[in-house]
Amino acid sequence: MAGIYLHIPFCKQACHYCDFHFSTNLDNRASIVAAITEELVLQRDYLQGERVNTVYFGGGTPSLLSEAELNGMLDTLYKTFPVNTGAEFTLEANPDDLTKDKLASLRRSGINRLSIGIQSFDDAVLKFLNRAHNATLASQCVVDAYDAGFENISIDLIYAIPDQTEAVWEENIQKALNLNPQHISSYSLTIEQKTAFGRWAAAGKLRPVDDDLAGQQLQVLVGRLEGAGFDQYEVSNFALPGFQSRHNSSYWKSEAYLGVGPSAHSYNGAHRQFNISNNSLYLKALQAKTIPATREELTREDQINDYLLTTLRTAWGADLTHIFNTWHYDVPTTHGPYLNDLLRSQYASLDNNILRLTRRGKLLADKIASDLFLLTP
Ligand code: SF4
Repeated sequence: MAGIYLHIPFCKQACHYCDFHFSTNLDNRASIVAAITEELVLQRDYLQGERVNTVYFGGGTPSLLSEAELNGMLDTLYKTFPVNTGAEFTLEANPDDLTKDKLASLRRSGINRLSIGIQSFDDAVLKFLNRAHNATLASQCVVDAYDAGFENISIDLIYAIPDQTEAVWEENIQKALNLNPQHISSYSLTIEQKTAFGRWAAAGKLRPVDDDLAGQQLQVLVGRLEGAGFDQYEVSNFALPGFQSRHNSSYWKSEAYLGVGPSAHSYNGAHRQFNISNNSLYLKALQAKTIPATREELTREDQINDYLLTTLRTAWGADLTHIFNTWHYDVPTTHGPYLNDLLRSQYASLDNNILRLTRRGKLLADKIASDLFLLTP
């Protein structure tokens, strides 16, 4: 089974921390939407006839799309790919776009899962991040989404925000829980060089939160969400039973996906493909019916290391038998003493040769995965 990701590269304004690909110039929006639709057709063979089980509109801000634009892309997608009945259709949305009319139109279009970029329920924090919404809208849009008939709602929250007190963070978590979402994604604020925060940090005007404090905030989140019945099925993702993101899980399970739109990635097990991160060049290429992408063939080392990096962040863990059978890489032989240390100090458990990180291990998931990498000279 496969997934399709559509990258909608526009935003009303630039959040101070964001290094995703987007433009705040909406002038060529109609042409870009047409180009993304054209790319779906040009890429019709990428998934080799595999059935599509998840479709994800990400960005950027897909909730800026009109009903006609969204329906146009979906019509083409249905005509071009075999889509499973009951497929998951997620759309990332910003609270300021989610009017009652908008929510009704998204339902009519067949979107059955919303991922809402709330980030914080605190007005001072939202202003600091340069988000376009306020705290009142953040809560109201979720209530309105339920009223419109959505039954699968994910909320994004950011932690490790400089100067955000513990009390504000805990209050944020409580406010999120009060809205009864089925899913919460929460990422630590990272200061990226080419963002407003990156420039402020370089000029000494912003000091990132240190890793220990960020780790404590994640632990508070894990404790509160697990207490409310959520499962931390990936380091940054929490779901009530039956509400894991099927689309993102397919990334972590190394299933094939096609990404269309500027900056989108695709993956089919043997290679990754990266679309150009530039709206004008993307448009030009698609108008000439070419796909502006670079391709990276994945070596055995890449495949093993990608597998470790993604699965060790998840609740289902890394299957060491699968790694051996697929790539003839014997992790216990190569990293025996390190593995024993992980188990002894309760950073990980090993059952049926499946390596899973414990709660404290998950705080160091990327580091532990990289320590287990296959390294060829
Ligand atoms: S965080 Fe989302 S809304 Fe903000 S600039 Fe980035 S893509 Fe746009």
